Amino acid sequence: MNNLPNINVNYPADYHMHSHNSGDSKAPMEDMILSAIQKGLKEICFTEHMDLDYPPTPDLPEDPFVLDIPSYKNELYKYKEKYKDQITVKYGIEIGMQTQIAGDNAKLVANEDFDFVIASIHLVDRNDPFYPGFWDSDTVENIYRRFFSQTLENIKLFTDFDVLGHLDYISRYAPKGDTTYSYERFKDQIDEILNYLVENGKGLDVNSKVLGYSEELAPNPCPEALKRFHELGGKIITFGSDAHRPDAIACGFPKICEIAREAGFTEYYTFDKRVPTPHKF
Ligand SMILES: [Zn+2]
Ligand SMILES: [Zn+2]
Repeated sequence: MNNLPNINVNYPADYHMHSHNSGDSKAPMEDMILSAIQKGLKEICFTEHMDLDYPPTPDLPEDPFVLDIPSYKNELYKYKEKYKDQITVKYGIEIGMQTQIAGDNAKLVANEDFDFVIASIHLVDRNDPFYPGFWDSDTVENIYRRFFSQTLENIKLFTDFDVLGHLDYISRYAPKGDTTYSYERFKDQIDEILNYLVENGKGLDVNSKVLGYSEELAPNPCPEALKRFHELGGKIITFGSDAHRPDAIACGFPKICEIAREAGFTEYYTFDKRVPTPHKF
């Protein structure tokens, strides 16, 4: 649980969060905003899930992550106005990438005036690593390799995004105790992704979600991969709790700020209608 003090804390903007508009959250949007204000945040960005063509899951309805954009937008702008003197609320989206929907995702983003777009991979070969059985399909090493190769393939196909979401996301769901993952082990593939992002002016979502479970866990990306992004010339990072509940907002932020500083970053970014602005932290 997050017991961070809410006074005199200069938190960076939380640029990755979900509300009931996402298929896997029940949180009222207003509760998320009130929690952010209470924690002392000055700016947040909702990044609701849009995962087109999602495979059937054991526990969710059909097409669980198809976002009702007009309804989301109406609700967001209502609260943006209501709380404008206390917090800046931005209009974002987290696009779930798959090769067969790259064109649909591009159209969707082109037709909407989002402030900020995260591109994420939540599936490997149309399978969700969240569910048991996924990891039985191959060796853990091969599954990581496929995850990273599909990430690269997808960011080359769908290019209208600002940051890549949770670079090594799949490590969150690796079998308990498994130690296969390290930046060093998958350096060849991760460097290719990072280089592509740098060359194309894209950023990374520094995602603290797992720090809400334990401060011992590594955020996504892991510190070594974040450091490498900086070494390769990466400039744009956003901080995100990936909160699906009000109490998880800004979870682990002091820790990820420290990790980002150690990686060499002195600035994080916010976005307005897709235009990035740096801020010291
Ligand atoms: Zn995600
Ligand atoms: Zn998310």
